[in-house]
Amino acid sequence: MDASGNLLYASGFAVHSHGGIDRGYFGVPAELSGNALYFSEVVVDKLSGRSYLFVIQPVRDAQGDLLGLVAAPLDLDVLAKIFETINVGGKGVVGIWRADDGRQILQRPVVPGQVNLAPESNPLYRRIESGEKLGTMRLPAMLDGVERVYAFQRIADYPLYVEGGLAVDDYLAEWHQMLWVAAVSALLLFLSLSLVLIRLLRAENEEEAIAGKLAESEARYRMLAENSHDVIWTLDIRSRRYTYVSPSITDMSGYLPEEVVGQSIDARLTPESASRLARDIDQRLRRIAAGDKTANVVVAELEQVCKDGEVISTEVVSSYLLDADGVAHTILGITRNVSERKAAELALRETNRQLHARIEEIGRLQVALQELAVRDSLTGLYNRRYLDETLEREVSRARREGNPLSLVMLDIDYFKRVNDTYGHQVGDEALRMLATTLLADIRTEDVACRYGGEEFLILLPNMPLETAMQRAEAWRKAIEELSIALGNFHITFTISLGVASYPEHGKTPDDLTRCADQALYRAKHEGRNRISVFSA
Ligand code: GH3
Ligand code: MG
Ligand code: MG
Repeated sequence: MDASGNLLYASGFAVHSHGGIDRGYFGVPAELSGNALYFSEVVVDKLSGRSYLFVIQPVRDAQGDLLGLVAAPLDLDVLAKIFETINVGGKGVVGIWRADDGRQILQRPVVPGQVNLAPESNPLYRRIESGEKLGTMRLPAMLDGVERVYAFQRIADYPLYVEGGLAVDDYLAEWHQMLWVAAVSALLLFLSLSLVLIRLLRAENEEEAIAGKLAESEARYRMLAENSHDVIWTLDIRSRRYTYVSPSITDMSGYLPEEVVGQSIDARLTPESASRLARDIDQRLRRIAAGDKTANVVVAELEQVCKDGEVISTEVVSSYLLDADGVAHTILGITRNVSERKAAELALRETNRQLHARIEEIGRLQVALQELAVRDSLTGLYNRRYLDETLEREVSRARREGNPLSLVMLDIDYFKRVNDTYGHQVGDEALRMLATTLLADIRTEDVACRYGGEEFLILLPNMPLETAMQRAEAWRKAIEELSIALGNFHITFTISLGVASYPEHGKTPDDLTRCADQALYRAKHEGRNRISVFSA
């Protein structure tokens, strides 16, 4: 452009035909002084709509008179695009302003109608105006009222400055959010720490409580074990050796607990008991392994050898202790000395045996006594009382069954003379021999009885008169042939017999007895040593 503003040369820039390009187009003031660069106001190209800022360099001659102007356009739209790539948050701003007069060149985001204007009082501009090159300040924006933190900086020695503002809300929001997140995280961390702490404390307390209870229960069981009259012990199953033995072992066997701990069952028991126990352990381990719940507890009688060699009987209750996998490693046992009990049992059994023998004897005596009560002591035949009962019963039966029944009454002939001649003892012997002879020749159901001094009655159930007569005759003959040896003498005697039968002679015991007696009386009367049948 020449000094008067006429375009002399242009390149890379549309030269508009209306010819309006002059100094006024660039807004160059009439009075340009010095050689300093001049920045135009923002010019909007009317055709393209693009915004430009022209940088103008005056050209002068040696005398300093203006020869012309060289102008170069800065495309503000390119700059605007660059500004858009800067992240200033939702309400942030970024812009270029004039440092000489405070007018706006470019701002993103755009506030319409503000380009080329200088706000009435711009605190930022005032600080630039006062010579500050660089600074920050927080203030509510004049245009939109948004509070921002601004940073500003002069662009080299050019009369321009750049400013950027971040909305307080935006960055505080982020900070608040961060703070919130941090606070919540911290709180969560605190809570989880507290929880962990509480759990730890509780676990510790529980552990303490459990340990306390455990100690208490152990003390209780130890007290029981140490003071028990029975011996309490544990046995390691694999080695078959005792791992614990309570002090009462000393009372029971003479051994000290420490002598027994470590000993095997073979050392403690008799060979028979030891091998029986070993077999039982093997069998139980197999049953436990097979899941048999009833195999855990066992009661056994085992014989133990004491320190002095004495063998004692013990009753042992063993319990197999299982681990979590159901495997038995230890037997817990209680051993009781039952020697005294066994001895008492033995004594009791002996007493019992004796008592049984006594009872049997008494029974036998009772039977004998009963026999005695119905027997005659001299002859062993039944007595009259027994005959009375039996006769009553047998007559009833004969009547009921329609059977016959016979009675034979007999008496020794001239027995007085036997007594008188040979003595009473010989008479007794005669009575005994008569009884023996009769007993040898009667049926089991017949009842022979000593009716009086030397008078006998024989009851013959189920026997008719005829047969009874034959029996009576046979006895008469047998007695007649009997002789009693007395030194060089032989004594003989005879009997007379009377026979009566049911039902022909009588229907009641009394009648029948009377009939037999009468028949006997007749036999005596007719000469003795004979039989006679009742006849009315
Ligand atoms: P008869 O032929 O008339 O029967 O003559 P008898 O001498 O046998 O007379 P009787 O029957 O009256 O006498 C019974 C005698 O039997 C009397 C008594 O001395 C004897 N006598 C009775 N009981 C016993 C006895 O238990 N032992 C002995 N040795 N003699 C007895
Ligand atoms: Mg007589
Ligand atoms: Mg007589």
